[in-house]
Amino acid sequence: MSPSPSRAELLARLRQGRTWDVIIIGGGASGLGAAVDAAARGYATLLLERGDYACGTSSRSTKLIHGGVRYLRQGDLALVRHALLERSRLLTNAGHLVHARPFVIPAHNAMQRLFYGSGLKLYDLLAGASNLPSSRLLDRRQTLAALPGLRPQGISGGIEYWDGQFDDARLAIALMRTAGHLGATCLNYLPVGGLLKAGDKVCGVVAEDGESGESFELPARVVINATGVYADAVRRFEQAGAAPVLTPSQGIHLVLDAEFLPGETALLIPETADGRVMFAIPWLGKVLLGTTDTPRDDLPEEPQPFADEVDFLLQTAAGVLARAPQRSDVRSAFAGLRPLLHPEHQGQGGTASLSREHAVLVSPGGLVTVAGGKWTTYRLMAEQVVDRAAQVGGLAPVPCTTARLKLHASPGELLATGPGQAVRLHPELELSQDAVRFACRHEAARRIEDVLARRSRALFLDAAAAMACIDPVGAILAEELQWSAPQLAAMQARARQYAGQFRLG
Ligand SMILES: Cc1cc2nc3c(=O)[nH]c(=O)nc-3n(C[C@H](O)[C@H](O)[C@H](O)COP(=O)(O)OP(=O)(O)OC[C@H]3O[C@@H](n4cnc5c(N)ncnc54)[C@H](O)[C@@H]3O)c2cc1C
Repeated sequence: MSPSPSRAELLARLRQGRTWDVIIIGGGASGLGAAVDAAARGYATLLLERGDYACGTSSRSTKLIHGGVRYLRQGDLALVRHALLERSRLLTNAGHLVHARPFVIPAHNAMQRLFYGSGLKLYDLLAGASNLPSSRLLDRRQTLAALPGLRPQGISGGIEYWDGQFDDARLAIALMRTAGHLGATCLNYLPVGGLLKAGDKVCGVVAEDGESGESFELPARVVINATGVYADAVRRFEQAGAAPVLTPSQGIHLVLDAEFLPGETALLIPETADGRVMFAIPWLGKVLLGTTDTPRDDLPEEPQPFADEVDFLLQTAAGVLARAPQRSDVRSAFAGLRPLLHPEHQGQGGTASLSREHAVLVSPGGLVTVAGGKWTTYRLMAEQVVDRAAQVGGLAPVPCTTARLKLHASPGELLATGPGQAVRLHPELELSQDAVRFACRHEAARRIEDVLARRSRALFLDAAAAMACIDPVGAILAEELQWSAPQLAAMQARARQYAGQFRLG
């Protein structure tokens, strides 16, 4: 494998005094997608992420590449159709990271089967010539066979449909590596603290190396703001009084052992007590339970589940699963903030009814913001924001090429030890010494929690097991990144504190 550029080599590129065609602020789905798109068009592209790649919302999703069955109910057919087209593209272009997953909606009577069955036929129709099987009605026996963890009382049948499932943080790392291979420069731990201006026009960014404190003034023909729920804060770097475009909302997930929902089929409860949907989904050997929708405007970098959100998911699960999960069964709990478009842009109502549609906005000074959206539609968002950025920056027009672009794969995709490979660091986790070294050398892992939360998903799967790996992972990183003993101790302490947020108190 060709060597990946080191952080020192990437930082040296920032000192060359060049003017970048495009600078992208934010290394989540939106920013990384834009970096791949811009680099694939041949633009000189720089992406700066203040924390780790996908440390925000983009590692905390439900991990579905989907049209969004619930948006059907909201009548948002265009959103569903676009998302289903992107689902099909991702299954083709990132088959190593996105796979098909069957879902079953249990029904309690014939009316429900008819209602959900016809809704899912519409979903099939909107998917067009999709690469996934069509939906079908199941009788009671088939439903209980598909969902052996389901509480059988009152079940008369079900409806099976298919959607895409993925590992969100791994897809982000694949995008970062794809962008790098296409010539982009991507740096994590490099926060942008302000914008450069020529008169009223935005012409670059001011950024600081979060590790050394070195500061940079980086000129660009156009700057893209892809900072998720922080997009309004970055827009205010230009205009202190800029009106908000986002109404963030928190969603949480709980992770349980596979025994709570054995098998390969996911469960969708289409209407919970408060009118939302709830999923229980097999994921990497565990079951993911989610999600909630709680308006939140304080925007902490590390949001935590609220107690009532945890209770809500456990109570809803207890009503539908044969074995009711308790707090003590939760292996990991995590929260993310949805960057939903403000009602002014998207109609009225609570955050659960806001559309996951996205918008590309250009400020008076030419800052191009991509706001809202879903992981599923990151490529479409990237195409649209780079089209607009090229106009704003006066770049030579080049058509988007990402609809057929295969995304980068790490060897073996990769952190699973697999048969015959190196020894696991923990019996409950598929994480090996080699994988930690690879994460460091080729995937820009800089901290222990980068490895445990995003290069592997250990913290998301089993927080206690992941915490037991802090010392061995720290020892490897110390060797790779030449940390001193006090630096290692500080990194371990930081990782312990970080990991604590994944455990229910
Ligand atoms: C609970 C939940 C479930 C979801 N489930 C799904 C799903 O199943 N399928 C789906 O398609 N979508 C899902 N989504 C939506 C999807 O996760 C988001 O739309 C997507 O991840 C947003 O990506 P982003 O890049 O816009 O934001 P983020 O991932 O938050 O990235 C923004 C980045 O900008 C960085 N940043 C901020 N300020 C600065 C600065 N000054 N300098 C440098 N960097 C900065 C942040 O550190 C962050 O990493 C879900 C969302 C939530 C919350």
